[in-house]
Amino acid sequence: MQIENDAFARIIENLHDGLYFVDTDRVITYWNKGAERITGFSSVEVVGRRCSDNILTHVDSEGNCLCLGRCPLMATIADGQDRESEVYLHHKGGHRITVFVRVSALKDSLGNTIGGIELFTDISSILLNNARVQELEKLALLDNLTQLANRHYLERELLARFEEMKRVKVPFGILFIDIDYFKNFNDVYGHDVGDQVLKFVATTFVTNSRPFDLYGRWGGEEFIGIIRNIEPEELVLLGNRVRVLVEQSYIVHTEKKVSVNVSLGATMAAENDTIDSLTKRADTLLYESKRLGRNRLTFG
Ligand code: GH3
Ligand code: MG
Ligand code: MG
Repeated sequence: MQIENDAFARIIENLHDGLYFVDTDRVITYWNKGAERITGFSSVEVVGRRCSDNILTHVDSEGNCLCLGRCPLMATIADGQDRESEVYLHHKGGHRITVFVRVSALKDSLGNTIGGIELFTDISSILLNNARVQELEKLALLDNLTQLANRHYLERELLARFEEMKRVKVPFGILFIDIDYFKNFNDVYGHDVGDQVLKFVATTFVTNSRPFDLYGRWGGEEFIGIIRNIEPEELVLLGNRVRVLVEQSYIVHTEKKVSVNVSLGATMAAENDTIDSLTKRADTLLYESKRLGRNRLTFG
């Protein structure tokens, strides 16, 4: 397989890792997008300058500046040996970032060393992100009680679905779901049992949804299901299946089965809808289900 030079250039430019080249005087001659992203320095700012010129100014874990005598790139340019180490880069914003650095000599076709290559991986963000993203997702976007998407998450998702519908014509519909007579339920069984019911109702939505649908808690005992790539008839079928599944779910409380019903309003999103117009329409349809006796779905 023949890969053309400009294809190589594009691959290198868009590597996830930071990559730069220096000449034998350690003047930077190339700086990829990954290096820009990790360090905050753009290629224009650094090409033609030395790394020690207040750019990356690598230090080791004891805070020793590597530019003065211990630069792995300089050593590699001198002896041709590959090196790797964990060091700390200076970010344009001021802070230090932990990176794993690999350096090699850059040679011409005759084998003469004409410079050095440094490839660096941002290990601080890898370590932090795995934990932080999960934590943030939970804190900011998930509802604590039900572990469903919260209202903020639902709104973000609705915006994304509107975008997708406009761009690539993927239709979507929503189910507005409200538990019937829930105030009365709390009065009879207590708030804690009410919470348990909210949880299992939520789990019912999730375990029975398709991978690309999203159910979330809109507030109190109200939920919204965002159902992607669906036709109106299927939306009605799916909504009614959810309704029946909730009707068939229960917990045992003081040796008695305790269950609830839900009412639904179902509607398809139109191109000129907003989050507000769409949810209001679904809410009005839900109200109609309530008026007609509850435990039913109204489509409109
Ligand atoms: P309807 O059939 O018309 O929907 O009657 P409803 O009683 O469900 O409606 P209403 O909006 O009057 O009451 C909603 C109730 O939901 C009131 C509140 O106590 C209960 N609720 C809301 N959030 C929670 C919660 O987090 N936990 C519990 N246990 N109850 C909640
Ligand atoms: Mg309600
Ligand atoms: Mg209710």
